[in-house]
Amino acid sequence: MFIEEVISRIWQPVTNRYKECYDEAVRCNPEELYNNIVSDMNKKNNTTDKWINITILETSGCPHCNRNGIFLGCSFCDYFSRNIAGYAKMAALNKIDSNLYAKAVRRKFEQQRGVLVDPGVSELISGHDCLNPEELTDEAFDEMFNQGNLFNRKAMFFYLETRASSINEKKLAKLKGKIGRKVVIEFGAEVANEWIRNHWLNKGITDENIYSAIENIRRIGFFSNANILIGIPGMNGRQSLELFKDTFDILDTAGADYILCSPLIRQGYTMQNYLFQEFRDNPTLIETGVTRGNSTGLPEIFTVFDAIFWVISERSESLKKLILGPVFFPPYLNFIQNLYKGDPNEIIVNKVLLAIEKFNEQRDYSELIKIRKEVLDSSYYNEYKRRMENLQGKEGIQETFSTVAEEISKKMWPEQWRTKFEIFKSELLEYK
Ligand code: SF4
Repeated sequence: MFIEEVISRIWQPVTNRYKECYDEAVRCNPEELYNNIVSDMNKKNNTTDKWINITILETSGCPHCNRNGIFLGCSFCDYFSRNIAGYAKMAALNKIDSNLYAKAVRRKFEQQRGVLVDPGVSELISGHDCLNPEELTDEAFDEMFNQGNLFNRKAMFFYLETRASSINEKKLAKLKGKIGRKVVIEFGAEVANEWIRNHWLNKGITDENIYSAIENIRRIGFFSNANILIGIPGMNGRQSLELFKDTFDILDTAGADYILCSPLIRQGYTMQNYLFQEFRDNPTLIETGVTRGNSTGLPEIFTVFDAIFWVISERSESLKKLILGPVFFPPYLNFIQNLYKGDPNEIIVNKVLLAIEKFNEQRDYSELIKIRKEVLDSSYYNEYKRRMENLQGKEGIQETFSTVAEEISKKMWPEQWRTKFEIFKSELLEYK
């Protein structure tokens, strides 16, 4: 696929670095490597806020992203590049001694979260694909969930992250009664359109994977949490908002218990950051609304505001399902705040940020309702609305992607860009 070629090119430096780290680690004595991994006691990878404790498991990484040492995962995601040596060491340990790998996963969890401590009200364990035996091997799964409790009592809410394709009843049954009073299984659906999900976001997840995940989770008595994006890299704000609404409705109708929304964040080796680095001032992409100078790679604050407000006002019966992603919302709001420092529109933007924060922290949307009129009356919002109306909506997505793919092809493969672009165009024929 075109997108796989693009992503593997963007990630080439990481693939190279990973190979060096892995080759060195795999030559180590297993005990030495284990000791080296667990000796880093200070490296905390968990965050706590009022509602939820998030512990990022240290493993060999997401098997969808790290494909035998070649990195080509989802185009919008970079959980890895900052700790590439850590993933390489864990993968090497798994290769040379799978029992020690399993022990290291548990030990690292305990270093971060403590041994048999009181759980918070909500505990989230975020591997990448926790139910996939390539990441949490059978031994590691057993160490985590069968060899003694993780906490001194069950958490009220226990969240576990995985991919929809790894969710099956047999695996879910192994968690039953072990981890929390209410178990929520999180997976990325990202967008309801299967072509975009796979040919543009490189997710490798079918609609069927998503529907059967929701069904299997329900059947076992757990709760499903489908994660979706506000903002798609390579798309303009109007298209992103329209797709967000479609996606929310489709997942709601499919029976997802929760729908967790995350704004796109420009970081690391992602497509959105690549567009920012290479095309933020490209006139062709600026005309499509895909890039916007220094704001490239982030949804505009009013796109996020409109998305949340749409659920509050038009889908109020499903509002209880809406969760603002605890991992990506805070940095997104921060990013926007910094972007607008000293800007003439800083005041209205800050009011929107505060209202979203209040909704996020207290589930209180009164502030959002209160400032809605002020936002609608502001010249900045009206200018945004006019800009959006002049952009192509979802009926023009193929054309927008085509323009972006052509620009990327020219930049990445100046000598053979036509051939690469032809590959994309033939894939685009299957767009529905
Ligand atoms: S979004 Fe999830 S599945 Fe995709 S690369 Fe990132 S961790 Fe892996």
